[in-house]
Parts: sequence; C-alpha cells; structure tokens
Amino acid sequence: MHCLWCSNPESQQHIPQLGFIASRCVGAGGDCGGACLSVCPVAALSLGTQDKPIIDRQLCDGCGRCTQACPEDALNVVGRDMSVDEVIAEVEKDRPFYRRSGGGITLGGGEPLVQHHFTSAILAAAHEAYLHTALETSGFAAWEHFEPVLEHVDLLQIDFKHIDPLIHRELTGQSNELVIDNLRRVLSVKSPRDVVVRFPVIPGCNDSVDNIKDMAEFVAGLGFTQIELIPYHKMGLSKYAQYGMDYPLAGCESPSESHMARLREVVPILVK
Ligand code: SF4
Ligand code: SF4
Repeated sequence: MHCLWCSNPESQQHIPQLGFIASRCVGAGGDCGGACLSVCPVAALSLGTQDKPIIDRQLCDGCGRCTQACPEDALNVVGRDMSVDEVIAEVEKDRPFYRRSGGGITLGGGEPLVQHHFTSAILAAAHEAYLHTALETSGFAAWEHFEPVLEHVDLLQIDFKHIDPLIHRELTGQSNELVIDNLRRVLSVKSPRDVVVRFPVIPGCNDSVDNIKDMAEFVAGLGFTQIELIPYHKMGLSKYAQYGMDYPLAGCESPSESHMARLREVVPILVK
C-alpha cells in the first residue's frame, strides 16, 4: 500500500533512503568544500541551486559515504540491514525500561509483513527472551505469510481504512479485499482480547460518519471487540521534502475534537 497520509514515506521503497535537510546545508562553496560531492562512488550527487547537492535517486544506493563526509549533518541514511541477533541486542538495551513500564517490542510500519520471515524470527526471538510483542500492520499480506507471524504476537494492531473497495484503492493504491479476508481469518487464531482494529481518521478521505459507522459495524460483526480511532497528524510531513517526495495531502488538517467525539459515538466497541 501507499496510503496518501503515510507518515513513514522513507520506508516505501524497502531499501535504505538518503535524506537531505536543505536548511542545514551551507552549500558546496562553504567551509565543507562540497565534501559530499567528491566522495560519492556512483556520482549520484550533483550541484544544484545555491550550491546545494541534488540527489539522483536512481543512482544512489544508500551507501552513506556522503553522510560521513558532511560536517553539517545535512545528509542522513535511514534504513540498514540488521540480523535478528542485532535487533534483539538493540531491544535488550531497554529491558530495564520495559520491566518498569510493562512494555516490550512493537514492530511497526512501514509494513513488517513485507519481511514476514524476518518479522517472525524477531518475534520468536523476543518471546524466547521473555519480551512482550506487538505487531502493527496494514493487514495487506497473503494469509500464508501473515498466519505464521501471529504465533509470536501478543498484541495485534491491524488497520482498516475504508469500507468501499474502490475508494480504498484510491486512498491506498490497493483494494480492501485482502485486508477484509485477513480480518475474517484473524480471530481463528487470535483472541479478540489480543487484537485492536485501528481506523486512521483522515479528513476528506475516510472520516465521514457513515464510513466509520459502516467499518465499525462490519468489524464488530466479525467478532472483534476493540477498535481504536487514530486521528490524522502531520508528523511525517517534513520527511517528504527530505526524501525528495511530494506530499499528496498538502493542506490537510487534523480532525477537530468535536468531529472525533461524533465518530466515537458511532463506534460501539471503542478502546480509544
Ligand atoms: S548515499 Fe552513497 S550513493 Fe548515495 S549519494 Fe551518498 S555517497 Fe552517493
Ligand atoms: S550536504 Fe554537507 S557536505 Fe554537501 S554541500 Fe551541503 S553542507 Fe556541504
């Protein structure tokens, strides 16, 4: 899926992405001497306006050399290859915090089911280490990939975005049929107690009372007992410029508290 409101657009390509924060760049004529340009092994950087680099994203492989050369931290690479052991070692650093808070590990988006083998292995290793596990997913995955992952999930948070398959496709790039198929199956392997179905509430996209009511009634009819409404936010907005992407929902504002209150009234099994 490529939801219009995605707040982690850097994860959509499934490979490391080079980000550029233009406000930090002093320009190649400054003290840095344009260090980033000379270290790129594939000539993915060239000079643009104001002496600042332009990234050719077809050429860039996210090697990170330019990020090390830049003295202003204007370049960064997000995403890296890690083994299961490396992930768990990172998680273990916060174990004292989990002990106090009763927390654990949450795999979120991007979409963890894109790497379903890796996701399964991390969750299994977390259970072996007696860590609570949660999975946040769009639910857009083949059931034969999804089901094995669920074995080691203590809390499943699965999104549902629109009741109408055609509108769902306009909003996310995909029909809702696979998500609905998976929603129908989830309760054959998980207790409703351990599943929260999350509705993102996106003004002008899916936030009508009718749509939220229809989605809630459908989900409740399947036997789920917990729905969470997630109001639209703009936290991912600045990333679009950093990663050279256009923001599809420019001008969209968070839903008002009164509208959220109205929506909460039509959801019979609300947890938040
Ligand atoms: S991340 Fe590597 S390939 Fe990409 S622009 Fe920087 S140096 Fe070049
Ligand atoms: S990105 Fe960094 S190294 Fe490159 S021109 Fe800007 S400040 Fe200089």
